[in-house]
Amino acid sequence: MGNKGQSFYQQVNDSVMKSLEGSNIPEGVAESIRLCDSLLRVSFPIERDDGSIETITGWRAQHSHHRYPTKGGIRFAPIANEDEVMALASLMTYKCAIVDVPFGGAKGGVRIDRRKYSKAELARITRRYTYELASRNFIGPGVDVPAPDYGTSSTEMAWIADAYTSFTSDKLTALACVTAKPIELGGVRGRTEATGLGVAYGLEALFERADFVKKYGFTPGLDGKKVAVLGFGNVGYHAALFMAELGATVVAIGEWNGFIEDQKGIDVDALKAHFNEHKTFEGYSKGRFSKDGEQAVAIDCDILIPAALEGHIHEDNCHTVKAKCIAEAANGPLTNEAIDYFQTKNVLVVPDVYINSGGVIVSYFEWVKNLAHVRYGRLNREFEGATNRRMMKLMENLTGQQIADEDRLILSQGANEKDLVFSGLKDSMVSGLDQILETMVDDNLPTIRLAAFRLAINKIAKSYYARGVFP
Ligand code: GLU
Repeated sequence: MGNKGQSFYQQVNDSVMKSLEGSNIPEGVAESIRLCDSLLRVSFPIERDDGSIETITGWRAQHSHHRYPTKGGIRFAPIANEDEVMALASLMTYKCAIVDVPFGGAKGGVRIDRRKYSKAELARITRRYTYELASRNFIGPGVDVPAPDYGTSSTEMAWIADAYTSFTSDKLTALACVTAKPIELGGVRGRTEATGLGVAYGLEALFERADFVKKYGFTPGLDGKKVAVLGFGNVGYHAALFMAELGATVVAIGEWNGFIEDQKGIDVDALKAHFNEHKTFEGYSKGRFSKDGEQAVAIDCDILIPAALEGHIHEDNCHTVKAKCIAEAANGPLTNEAIDYFQTKNVLVVPDVYINSGGVIVSYFEWVKNLAHVRYGRLNREFEGATNRRMMKLMENLTGQQIADEDRLILSQGANEKDLVFSGLKDSMVSGLDQILETMVDDNLPTIRLAAFRLAINKIAKSYYARGVFP
């Protein structure tokens, strides 16, 4: 797909090398960071519902052990392969480093088209894959912690948690072996929304930088900015929903089998309800429907958010893009040729390693919750509420004025788990952006992508130096 024969893994490594041009990191150190540490391939049999036996192939790549555990999703996709998991594991390492999530990067892939399997068959595949990982020490709360990715969800994570818990003798920490679990199984509130919400928080913070966005021809703020989202899975849906909540106008949403465009603004939840029922946008009562999902990249908008698979925008279609900002909500949706092209056109590309890190940020919160065995807010919620109530009374006595009922209601309650997770997510996105933009200025780098990679490599190298790995 227009990538000059470079594999996905080579493309990621290319980005790393480009970001280090002119830096003082020796090539030997850069290479040891860049290359994937461990790769496991497994083949295992499962029984189909008709009694036949099928062999399934899967992988797990652990890219960097500069921190433990390693962390990253598992995808179920017919195109899953070794190169892809290594590339995606690498992106996880850099992503975690940028937003200060103390994990190395990993990624898993199982080569299946999930639509061809029953729920019971998917459960057997997931459980057996988990046993394969566990028996080779490729999963565990302190070793390697999976999460969902393309083609998986909290349902598979629950099966993984159950299979791992039954396998391990360490029951106390077992649930921290995987994240994005259902709440009943130790999941954290806000994880489902996290990646899409992180995209919205990251763009909100970026568009508040008036001087910075002006260089790309933008006025500050998200208000009224026209947004098109490619991919209406968990990430695309939540990105669209929260962008609209933050004031942007969602003018188009695309999927592989078509898109809807409505320059007046799309009701994201209404469209989602239609899509869930019919598996297509066709027949939706508002906007313009086109069957040609590929054409959605060329929609008239300010911000384009590719939120599906890698390689979506490449050298053959990048010229059709009208947006002046592209936020990579998916992993690797732009090929390096497309990235280079957008740089020549002064298009603001917000890279995956930063903008889609919301998922792993909240996975980190879930992992901490599982190890601590306590819900966020459980100890301080009532205390905070009571403190606020006392303060309000005091203020009313001092000023002789009544606090409005709606303010009283909000302030009377302390923060619950979701409030804390969302505010922790926002704080992490803002702090990640601050560090990237600082690196961009300090190291005189031309793009956010190069600065993001440079920042990540610097942090990882420092942790190796601190441990005396490099002299
Ligand atoms: N699969 C997601 C990603 O690519 C989430 C990973 C995680 O939560 O560990 O970032």
